[in-house]
Amino acid sequence: MTTTALTHIAQLVTNDPSLGEGPLGLIQDAAVVIDGDRIAWVGASSKAPATDNAVDAGGRAAIPGFVDSHSHLVFGGDRTQEFNARMSGRAYSAGGIRTTVAATRAATDAQLSANVAHYMAEALRQGTTTFETKSGYGLTVEDEARALRIAAAHTDEVTYLGAHIVSPDYADDPAAYVDLVTGPMLDACAPHARWIDVFCEKGAFDGDQARAILTAGKQRGLLPRIHANQLSYGPGVQLGVELDAASADHCTHLTDADIDALANSATVATLLPGAEFSTRAVWPDARRILDAGATVALSTDCNPGSSFTSSMPFCIALAVRDMKMTPDEALWAATAGGAQALRRTDVGRIAPGARADLALLDAPSHVHLAYRPGVPLVTDVWHRGVRV
Ligand SMILES: [Zn+2]
Repeated sequence: MTTTALTHIAQLVTNDPSLGEGPLGLIQDAAVVIDGDRIAWVGASSKAPATDNAVDAGGRAAIPGFVDSHSHLVFGGDRTQEFNARMSGRAYSAGGIRTTVAATRAATDAQLSANVAHYMAEALRQGTTTFETKSGYGLTVEDEARALRIAAAHTDEVTYLGAHIVSPDYADDPAAYVDLVTGPMLDACAPHARWIDVFCEKGAFDGDQARAILTAGKQRGLLPRIHANQLSYGPGVQLGVELDAASADHCTHLTDADIDALANSATVATLLPGAEFSTRAVWPDARRILDAGATVALSTDCNPGSSFTSSMPFCIALAVRDMKMTPDEALWAATAGGAQALRRTDVGRIAPGARADLALLDAPSHVHLAYRPGVPLVTDVWHRGVRV
């Protein structure tokens, strides 16, 4: 296999404290050796072993590829008018998620697949090398299975979210929709997914329904994650912890008991500041969650309604500016934290044996991701050892 050395990296973030300084395992004037699709070696640039190829990073920083553990990319249409109305202070009554459900059902497979490919490519250019995505805009057996088939052609991290909202077709009988989600829809979807998710919220699914949905998924071999405590206080976070969900996502409204539950669990609190930004909502209190000892991940929640950004650097800037995370905490949360939220150990770090996913920044330090918001600092990306 071909080996490549990246040399003269001003600052390398390994996310492995045994390899460098602090929790990010920082190495100054570093080199990384890639062998095939894996990291083979990291260390001081002056000690880099001989390789087939060499790339001079020229004093730029290198970070692990971002791990975006929460997105909704299988959709048709967009919601520009809804966003414009919300930002212009005008009432807008047309259907939110229902608008996207109608457009998604009307789209062809080729249109949906092209849309996923488009936004994943957009994210990759911004340094995202691992991407989770969900169904949830089909809400019929056929449309949910179709969404997951399409998603699975683009990523291994595929989540069945038939329980996004109660299908408009079942508005009069939500219990029958839960039976569908845990019955025939699960049968059709489980072969295409790794994860099962539910939107546990007033107006979506309550705690008992969410428990039934995640439990049914676990019995079919799917791993649970949960949309929890986004718009209001509720049972989602503690239910996620009880069911050993890999992640409780949003975590905007948390009681002390919710925080305690997270801190004493393997469930990651995944914060999605793009959603609060795009809806002018209150920020999750990242400082309180971190200070309690819970693990935090950052993700985009990329979707056409409430957070239409694919940019992890943007989320890092928001997390530092408005959620009071340190630049180091935010970088870790967007890489290693995302990996933990997907229960992955092969991504989110630059260390021997890890997948060769990394990004070079047109900056001497990762801190510039928050210090220089909105600037396209990611100049080069390697994904599975291949320069993109
Ligand atoms: Zn979401």
